[in-house]
Amino acid sequence: MSEKRCNTCGSTHYEERRITDLYSHQGKYLIVPNTPVEICTDCGTTYYSAPVLKAIEQQFFAI
Ligand SMILES: [Zn+2]
Repeated sequence: MSEKRCNTCGSTHYEERRITDLYSHQGKYLIVPNTPVEICTDCGTTYYSAPVLKAIEQQFFAI
């Protein structure tokens, strides 16, 4: 099991949440409801997992 650290503050405290995300890419916007993210509970930085990012990008290409 690997330990994750926040890139911003170095904390290892994460909370998993589902948010409605507004994702922007090359001037386009996409609302992604129910997006699973991990949030650093110390500084509030939001992290997306790689599969989630890939799925969002695929939605962009489908537009
Ligand atoms: Zn942090």
